[in-house]
Amino acid sequence: MEYEEVIGLETHVQLKTRTKMWCGCANEFGADPNSNVCPVCLGLPGVLPVANAEALRLTALTGFLLNCEVAGFAKWDRKNYYYPDNPKNYQITQLDYPSTIGGLVVFELNENITQVRITRAHLEEDVGKSFHFVDYSGLDFNRAGVPLLEIVSEPDINSADMAYEYLNALKKILEYGGVSDCDMEKGQVRCDVNVSVRPLGISKLGAKIEIKNMNSFSGVRRALQHEIPRQIGVLQNGGILVQETRRWDDDAGITDSMRTKEDAHDYRYIPDPDLMPHTPTEEWLTHVKECMVELPLARKQRLMAEYKLPEGDADMFVADSELADYFEEAAKCEKNPKAVANWIINDLQAKLTESETSLSDLKFTPTDFSELVGFVESGKINSKIAQEVFNEMFSTGKSPAEIVEEKGLTQVSDTGELERLCKETIKANPGPSEDYRKGKEAALNFLKGQVMKASRGKANPQMVGDLLKKILTG
Ligand code: ADP
Ligand code: MG
Ligand code: ZN
Repeated sequence: MEYEEVIGLETHVQLKTRTKMWCGCANEFGADPNSNVCPVCLGLPGVLPVANAEALRLTALTGFLLNCEVAGFAKWDRKNYYYPDNPKNYQITQLDYPSTIGGLVVFELNENITQVRITRAHLEEDVGKSFHFVDYSGLDFNRAGVPLLEIVSEPDINSADMAYEYLNALKKILEYGGVSDCDMEKGQVRCDVNVSVRPLGISKLGAKIEIKNMNSFSGVRRALQHEIPRQIGVLQNGGILVQETRRWDDDAGITDSMRTKEDAHDYRYIPDPDLMPHTPTEEWLTHVKECMVELPLARKQRLMAEYKLPEGDADMFVADSELADYFEEAAKCEKNPKAVANWIINDLQAKLTESETSLSDLKFTPTDFSELVGFVESGKINSKIAQEVFNEMFSTGKSPAEIVEEKGLTQVSDTGELERLCKETIKANPGPSEDYRKGKEAALNFLKGQVMKASRGKANPQMVGDLLKKILTG
């Protein structure tokens, strides 16, 4: 019998806010343990939470980015459980009235456009972090109360690769929208992977197995690549699968059972009596919508259509939105956008890497940059001189026009002047000239080099080649 896998992901994303969800403590990574804490996020008696307006805004913005409906009424619930890293003994979340409902992520998978429906995205808070040392354990509550958005997908994902690409697409959208930095190293994106298998052609879903708290996308893919065949194997051997929670051991490359899955009623959810429901006004929503950005896939398609960029270039720009902004700014003023793209991808990127600087450190503007490309395109300077001008722009911030003017670098394309240089060169190099006449092609390159040298690199190389040939064979 053939089986198919069904996957749904619950992705927790740390929102890019200055402060925590219910108090004024900094939402900051890497601070000394328990340095960003206060009575509210430590769950001390008598304190009251106050919702972070920026977190609410970013949540609604995510809703718009993911084609969700942003709820006109969202409320807060307490999910009760005891754990040392959970100081209040409950976590504030949204059970039955989440901030956003429905939605869609559209992305590319093996060159095709595919989509995954979103069930909901709800706002909640993170917990602290436990550390286990040799003979004692420690708790750091800096992360307790940090705003997390949980984005729940429908079980629309049907392969490990699709799960991987969905996560990448989601991450890119959230980064584009400025909702989260999605820094995996800092644990800003974590996800629970729900997976089941069923005989092909059967519509009823199989028993859901949840692999908890994955913190890398490639880990998710590896876990699924292992877990799917495991489940199929159990069924093929006449076994049964029950709903359970498993843990992925990346080193061993296996999942093992943690517990048979708890249900919602185990958490004794109750509405939080300390927090008012969030009922956004039309005005507020309109204001949030103003921060909407073009989605990465849409941008890619537009870059290809508007600037006639090949797919590879468009992918590169979409992967780095700052670079894409730079390209679009520069391409505005240049007739040949592909030439601008080439200069950015080849020269500018190499220079940034080599000098360990970033776009924001550049001393020249995108307009200057496109001027440089324009000079090469129009033949005002040749590409060798262009490198010299570019280096000068990079170190001084002067415009290409200034540099070319100051250094007298304009390409010599004047036939009379070039003819004179070629004739002089031929006269001074009778040997190579004779060689060329006798059919030694390489001799022409030597002569060309000599003319370029005599012009201090400014001669139009194409014209020099043509003229030399004409004179030598004419
Ligand atoms: P819970 O209430 O236990 O969190 P949900 O029904 O809300 O479970 O689903 C959680 C996630 O699991 C969702 O992403 C959903 O798409 C996915 N899911 C639900 N049932 C299955 C299943 N049988 N197989 C795979 N994924 C599933
Ligand atoms: Mg769940
Ligand atoms: Zn606090």
